[in-house]
Amino acid sequence: MALLKTQIRSLPGIYKRYTTYLEKLDILTPEDFLYHFPFRYNDFTIISKINEIQAGEIVTIRGEVKEIKNQYTRGRLTIQKAEISDDTGSLDIIWFNQPYLVKNIQNTDKISLSGKIEEKMGKLQMNSPEFEIGEDNFIHTGRLVPIYPETRGVSSKWLRRQVFKFLSQNKEEISDFLPPKIKKNNKLLDLYESIYKIHFPNDLNEVEIAKKRLGFDELFTTQLAANVRRISWNKKLKSKAFEVNKFEKEINKLIKSLPFKLTNAQLKAKDEIFSDLNKENPMNRLLEGDVGSGKTVVAAISMYLAYLNGRESVLMAPTEILAAQHHKTITELLSPLKIKVGYASSSKKDLLDDFDILVGTHAVIQKNINFKNLGLIIIDEQQRFGVEQRGILRNKGENPHVLTMTATPIPRTIALTLYGDLDLSVLNEMPQGRLRIKTWLVPNIKRNDANKWIEKQILTNKSQVFVVCPFIEESESLTTVKAATKEFERLKNVVFKKNRVGLLHGKLKAKEKEIILNDFKNRKYDILVATPLVEVGIDIPGADIIVIEAAERFGLSQLHQLRGRVGRREKQAFCLLFTESQTPQTLERLRGMEKTNIGSELAELDLKMRGPGQIYGTRQSGRSYLKIADLTDHKLIQSTKIEAQKYATKLEKYPELKNRVEQMNIKVVAPD
Ligand code: ADP
Ligand code: MG
Repeated sequence: MALLKTQIRSLPGIYKRYTTYLEKLDILTPEDFLYHFPFRYNDFTIISKINEIQAGEIVTIRGEVKEIKNQYTRGRLTIQKAEISDDTGSLDIIWFNQPYLVKNIQNTDKISLSGKIEEKMGKLQMNSPEFEIGEDNFIHTGRLVPIYPETRGVSSKWLRRQVFKFLSQNKEEISDFLPPKIKKNNKLLDLYESIYKIHFPNDLNEVEIAKKRLGFDELFTTQLAANVRRISWNKKLKSKAFEVNKFEKEINKLIKSLPFKLTNAQLKAKDEIFSDLNKENPMNRLLEGDVGSGKTVVAAISMYLAYLNGRESVLMAPTEILAAQHHKTITELLSPLKIKVGYASSSKKDLLDDFDILVGTHAVIQKNINFKNLGLIIIDEQQRFGVEQRGILRNKGENPHVLTMTATPIPRTIALTLYGDLDLSVLNEMPQGRLRIKTWLVPNIKRNDANKWIEKQILTNKSQVFVVCPFIEESESLTTVKAATKEFERLKNVVFKKNRVGLLHGKLKAKEKEIILNDFKNRKYDILVATPLVEVGIDIPGADIIVIEAAERFGLSQLHQLRGRVGRREKQAFCLLFTESQTPQTLERLRGMEKTNIGSELAELDLKMRGPGQIYGTRQSGRSYLKIADLTDHKLIQSTKIEAQKYATKLEKYPELKNRVEQMNIKVVAPD
């Protein structure tokens, strides 16, 4: 098998050790190194003779090592001091606390060093430079040097070496999958050259040309994969169409019985869904709606229609908390109509032999649950489920209809690119009577005032408060939990001594989480300290203040999701953001939260200020295939869309392209 596509965990030697670190960067195969793109370059292109350098310059010098030694200072610090000379003079080089350098660098080595020149006591020296031994093939010095997203144990320098190695040793494996005609029509560079240039460009113009090609690939193949999925979906055997008109009376009665009036957007989404269900092709629809826009009730009405048609339906949620909440909502709504609502999670099971509607976590796909005539699948918060789980669920019925729901406010253009195979319904309207959540970016000097204000709100206004702790790592790691626990202790024992404070984090058992949330709901706590990963979808009626710590670590869309935990009732709600950051750009970004309450606007703003890689990259949506494409480039999206439609039907003729698309359709996190 080709080396580039081999799983790193099955490679011999050193890589094995790095497996878990690399997984954090979504590097699972050597090929992934090549697609781990730099986010900036250090400019080390000025190469100087030693007698020409000046204090303050960032330069590269090349010469020979005359001497290198460790010097010990007071305390436990060490300094590594080297003398380097070229044919014009010699220069002192200083590193700090890297004693191993005296083994890596030897007298008479030919060396290249890039760094800043400083003056100390009238003498020039170079401090902590990048360096590499050798006389050619420079990758760390004397050029534009790529800087990568890093993680603990994986430095840019190490990554750079791997990329260079795979690029040099596996050139013939990187064959261009784009049909020549597309390349010609769109004036695109070859694949190998593009990958090479994005890592090791001679100038920034080369980076642009490489990005153009690689960005084209991303948009083209993403849309091609979506087209292929759509074609295969439409080829599926027909399912039995649901009767819609026949049950108009029952449906209207349910809608009238709701404690609120449906929004126009909800009614429209319902109609779109019903019209799909009324067809013989199984539905494959995405329901996109901001937090609090009321997706659940749309799902419930659809499941009621399935029931009226004598079909079972299932609602799958990504966490136990959410599943339990859905179960409660759906039961309250539909059990008066004699509908049996079952429940399945790893810790709790109910009515599994006799249900009309089944709600649960991924436990609903277990083997021992027997569906008799599954007709409708609803998946909440779609980005958390993989294709595989979706597939298993779909095989539980004969071509059941599928509705996926998401609160990720993806701008429409991107939704259509990523999920081009899905039909899209959007809840672009909030239920009436909702007040805008008042949001403040609170300067740190006002922290005490803010705390006093919160205490007062709890006392006089019966407020309940979420405190969201900083996001430390991508997963709910022990570090995150520790930080939350510490903050909890501090708030409970120092800051809010008079109030009742609770703690919720992802390492608790499902049962414990449920108890804590219920206690919070039932007002046994005033304040709930929580880690960020428990955010999505939970509904606490009394909570009307949310405090978010280290807000700069979140994307605006995530902040918006978190903020959506409050303000679901008619009562005025508040969101307080704190940050240690002083960067003008970060502060401006966060102020976006003060200015708008509309998820899609915040998503656009995020997109403008942070770029798609950050947002639709690895963090939120699984392994991303949209890393560098400019998602605001509508012309490019349009032209790649046309090419994608064209090639989707004749993919057989292009085996390499087909292969590529098939790989994506296995891995891509989108409804299959
Ligand atoms: P989300 O779209 O975030 O999943 P939910 O379905 O949880 O939102 O709904 C949020 C809250 O709004 C729920 O308490 C629900 O009962 C309420 N709700 C839903 N639709 C309406 C409406 N049309 N008018 C008023 N309240 C509504
Ligand atoms: Mg929801």
